Amino acid sequence: MLAPGAVIGILGGGQLGRMVAGAAAALGYRCHIFTPERESPASLVTPFTTVAPFDDEAALARFAASVDIVTFEFENVPAETAEFIAAQGRAMHPGPDVLRVTQDRVREKDFLRSVGVATTDYREVTSLAGLRRAVSEIGPRGVLKTVRLGYDGKGQVMLRPESDLAEAWQRVGGEVAILEALVDFACEISVIVARNGAGETASYPTVENQHVNHILDTTIAPARIAPETAARAEAVARHVVAALGMTGLLAVEMFVTKSGEVLVNELAPRPHNSGHWTLDACYTSQFEQLVRAICGLPLGSTAAHSDAVMKNLIGDAVDTWRDALADPLAKLHIYGKAEARPGRKMGHVTRLLPRS
Ligand code: AMP
Repeated sequence: MLAPGAVIGILGGGQLGRMVAGAAAALGYRCHIFTPERESPASLVTPFTTVAPFDDEAALARFAASVDIVTFEFENVPAETAEFIAAQGRAMHPGPDVLRVTQDRVREKDFLRSVGVATTDYREVTSLAGLRRAVSEIGPRGVLKTVRLGYDGKGQVMLRPESDLAEAWQRVGGEVAILEALVDFACEISVIVARNGAGETASYPTVENQHVNHILDTTIAPARIAPETAARAEAVARHVVAALGMTGLLAVEMFVTKSGEVLVNELAPRPHNSGHWTLDACYTSQFEQLVRAICGLPLGSTAAHSDAVMKNLIGDAVDTWRDALADPLAKLHIYGKAEARPGRKMGHVTRLLPRS
């Protein structure tokens, strides 16, 4: 067990790291952020920051030597960086093996299938001819995605019967991609689950996610779905985190089909935007839960004391912050980013709906 006073190293300096650092500070831990970015949201609230590229081995070695444990808030940390840290003898949770699976959409779906978890039909595609073959096998309606480094809908092309496949192949980079059958979903949901080193797991209630331009816009907690479906989603999340054997936090994004089936879309082995509501509406936030899990503390209660609706403040929407302050049931979180570019997550507001 790592007792309060220890130093947690966090790879990545975004808002997720900032909120982990806040939770860690409340429990008496210190954080050291490693990020290529100056003035990052996380570094503004932590005592120690290293600003260096992820391939700077000298800086990584100094960072590893100065912390007691390492985690990440950005899952596209290069696998080599994670392996280098692990080779320094520093515990890293989740480990490089988990990153290897979740950084690659094909490996991730192959893994899910191998442990009996349902996903939409998919094919790995490595050429235009392969794309044509995949379309003939799984149908003309699909989503073609880059295998790596895609998030918030980046590197994705929607395919329809009339789509020009050569153009779509160019748009995803023309090297290696995954074609997924389009899911005609009733809604999108997610479950965040924690697992500690003793193998104990705790899942948060299933929430419903609404996207705008492929970016999460609103999370509704709990999800407005049948209780059996929510329970099934939570069981899937606990099964996947146990099958990965990881210590830390896993977000499992899923589709609920019109026939009530639950299909896993994507995994993120870190705190997740769809869990921000837990900061204000649950006894233990996802950020505190991550600290508890990786430091070997008992996991906290994942129960909610209020229902909640979380809305992201994207780009200029951050200018509405005064409105949130005027509402006694709204909790405002701003990430400290200097420039409100379109599509950039600048903050969020959680409106609590206390249970009577
Ligand atoms: P992703 O980057 O995989 O999370 O995809 C971003 C968003 O695109 C998802 O949250 C869905 O709204 C949509 N999407 C992705 N894959 C599919 C799919 N196979 N069928 C339908 N919608 C999808």
